[in-house]
Amino acid sequence: KEQGKSRSVRYSPDMDDRAAEHARMGADLQRALAGGELFLLYQPVVTLPHGDLSSVEALIRWRHPERGLVSPAEFIPVAEHNGMIVRLGDWVLREACRQMAEWKRDYGDAAPSRVGVNVSARQLREPAFAQTVADVLAETGLRPSDLLVEITETAVFDDGPAVETVAAIQALGVAIALDDFGTGHSSLGLLRTCPVDILKVDKLFVDEVTGTAEQAAIATSLAQIARALGLGAVAEGVETPAQAMRLYQMGYRLAQGYHFSRPLSAEDLGGLLAAGGRGPDAVEPPALAS
Ligand code: C2E
Ligand code: MG
Ligand code: MG
Ligand code: MG
Repeated sequence: KEQGKSRSVRYSPDMDDRAAEHARMGADLQRALAGGELFLLYQPVVTLPHGDLSSVEALIRWRHPERGLVSPAEFIPVAEHNGMIVRLGDWVLREACRQMAEWKRDYGDAAPSRVGVNVSARQLREPAFAQTVADVLAETGLRPSDLLVEITETAVFDDGPAVETVAAIQALGVAIALDDFGTGHSSLGLLRTCPVDILKVDKLFVDEVTGTAEQAAIATSLAQIARALGLGAVAEGVETPAQAMRLYQMGYRLAQGYHFSRPLSAEDLGGLLAAGGRGPDAVEPPALAS
């Protein structure tokens, strides 16, 4: 009796519980999308060394009526699993582009250079996805260069159809970033087979840039690879001035992280744009001596 199902439900988070929890969350997500519980935050991507605003990345949030804020790390995998990511992803793309058009209208040249939207593997396997991107640009009046699509290595690794979709999106004039670079099924060959404009170097490697040369080696090499291939490089998850300084010395010219700004509401980002896009935490350029 002790080992009956009430035990597992109440005390031990095992597989069944997780499946039940996923099912519940999936149903909740349907309601969330219809009921306006989802919203986007925008995290600045800044130029080094001064920390001026360059672009923004749209990051989804869910304000659950009982559970409060739910992390995308929790619900995006559920939406990918039950297929809802396709509708949810369409909503993110539309909302981010609508907001970008509003900033361009209200702030002109002070608007972010582009808005980055995270796109999951499942979306890239929709045959119509590149057309959806073209439609949303047309509907919102954005130029293709106002948008950046962030994909992961895993999403395109060994997957012909996904790579073709990415190529079709790039052919529209939309920039492509490889997100969390170095943490997925990495293969440098991917940089030759998959159309890509920007490498987003994962926080994992950024965390180590102030350590020994050995610890910093991957971040150093990725900056060199990006430069050699003519790609942009963004350092993700920069949390300290010392990291920002080291990254600048390594050749990084773009960074994102709590040191510069947390993800902001559209309203707060508007405030930043009205103030001219200058971050409060500018990093002084390092001395010129090598
Ligand atoms: P990501 O695309 O790599 O986004 C960067 C994540 O790092 C964000 O977490 C951001 O808040 C966090 N971050 C930024 N700077 C720092 C820092 O200095 N320190 C730390 N510790 N974290 C930092 P978030 O918003 O929780 O999103 C997590 C992941 O969920 C994203 O990783 C992305 O893979 C996924 N995601 C978020 N929004 C969407 C979306 O609209 N669609 C899809 N498909 N995935 C999304
Ligand atoms: Mg991203
Ligand atoms: Mg990332
Ligand atoms: Mg990351």
